[in-house]
Amino acid sequence: MAEKYDAVVIGAGIAGLGVSALLQRAGLKTLCVERDSQAGGRMQSFDIEGGWRVDIGLHLAELGDASSSSELARQVGKEVSWARFSETVEMFRAGRWQTLEEMIIASPEDIDEIKKMMKGIAAMSDADIEAYDLTSWKQWLDGKTTSAVARELFSVNGMIMTTVPDTLEMSAGEILYIARENLQKKRNVLTAAYPVGGMMGVITPLKEAFEEAGGELMLGTEVDSVLFEGSNVRGVALKKGSASPYPGWFYMDDARVVEAPVVVCALPLWDLDGVLDVSPETSVLPEWWLKRYDDLKFETTGLIGYTIGLKETVYDRPNFLSALCLDHTGKPFQGFVPSAFDPGVAPEGKSLLQTDCVVEVDQIFDKFELERLLGLMWTDIQEMFPGIDDRVEWKFTYKCIGCDGLARKPGQVGMFKPDVVAPGSGGLYFAGDTYRGRGLALNSAAISAKICAEEILGRHGP
Ligand SMILES: Cc1cc2nc3c(=O)[nH]c(=O)nc-3n(C[C@H](O)[C@H](O)[C@H](O)COP(=O)(O)OP(=O)(O)OC[C@H]3O[C@@H](n4cnc5c(N)ncnc54)[C@H](O)[C@@H]3O)c2cc1C
Repeated sequence: MAEKYDAVVIGAGIAGLGVSALLQRAGLKTLCVERDSQAGGRMQSFDIEGGWRVDIGLHLAELGDASSSSELARQVGKEVSWARFSETVEMFRAGRWQTLEEMIIASPEDIDEIKKMMKGIAAMSDADIEAYDLTSWKQWLDGKTTSAVARELFSVNGMIMTTVPDTLEMSAGEILYIARENLQKKRNVLTAAYPVGGMMGVITPLKEAFEEAGGELMLGTEVDSVLFEGSNVRGVALKKGSASPYPGWFYMDDARVVEAPVVVCALPLWDLDGVLDVSPETSVLPEWWLKRYDDLKFETTGLIGYTIGLKETVYDRPNFLSALCLDHTGKPFQGFVPSAFDPGVAPEGKSLLQTDCVVEVDQIFDKFELERLLGLMWTDIQEMFPGIDDRVEWKFTYKCIGCDGLARKPGQVGMFKPDVVAPGSGGLYFAGDTYRGRGLALNSAAISAKICAEEILGRHGP
């Protein structure tokens, strides 16, 4: 006998848990299936022996208590506990760290220009912003200012917001949206906060809200495929157990089927073909959608970086660290010290440092290029933090494809992102940072969860 639910959500990242909690609390019996042994997806945090708590890569949350992720938690009756906000952005320029304020002091004309631009952005309507979704950041800047300082200031902030290696290729609409939200809510172009206990501080409240409402979270289970009856969703098949040491060989059991009239794929666009038939001949999804899917699934960017546990700190201020182009790596750099925001993530007297460089996906697939870039990046890190080698207790490198959803370039943001409602099929939905939703990545995933739950409840609500 197949198990029956009102809704099955595939994936327990921020989007999947958000949709699950909203549906369950609205009265839909919901199952959330996650292939990892822990919830959180790209926002997981891990404990490392000796008292360290480490996130997957460098993570700060734009807008903190005023963010869509905080709002999502509140909507399901929970609060995220925020450690603190970043005080400023420090940029590595000409061999030293400079705060944005130091940079801006360059000339009174530049300050006037920046203030004028900020005022203009803060007053933009949604329609004004959408009009720039097809415009590159370069085009927008060219039409707005000749001040080199203003261009650099806005480009640095834009790079941090969008994680696109060539800052001028970013979508103006996306940057303007994030800047407007920050200016209206926090009176600054970009503000970022760190949750107490790392990124799980955002995930755990959603997970608790879902389970406390009676929802079922199935960890360590992979969904094999979404099942259809005609073009309507019938449920999901869970991966079969294997009797062979070679994964995928000699299946033991029949697939375990879970029936539900609603299935939400809360996984990134590039993972969809793992659970959905995307062949134009046989898919329930229409051909126009599949063409768009084919175009977009490689439109993402990557991060490479070092997570470093230090016996003694090399930088102790709660700031965001950045560089538009590192001397050796030749890439944009981002970094911060999580233990300067929440001392609880490192043992007493020690310090945790997160760093990354924004790269193209191809550079991650090429392992020799990846090693070359990581080597150069360490040379840059040695110059940014003199004496670091003597203080390293442990360090590991990481690489990540698809860090922030779709590369937020013109035509790939706002209404141009795939809708949360799947066309051509009854009961199939999407949620996450690669679908409809705006804002810095994890916040856009939170917004998409909210939009997705509203669409589902409007059609299948109790
Ligand atoms: C290194 C790094 C740094 C980042 N830094 C920032 C930052 O500073 N600020 C910011 O706003 N955002 C940042 N992000 C982006 C942010 O983490 C993501 O936008 C957000 O976590 C996306 O959530 P999601 O729910 O859409 O997807 P995910 O978190 O990817 O969740 C999808 C889930 O689906 C599961 N899944 C996939 N296939 C199956 C299957 N067949 N069956 C069952 N489960 C399945 C996956 O295991 C995963 O748990 C960063 C991301 C990375 C990786």
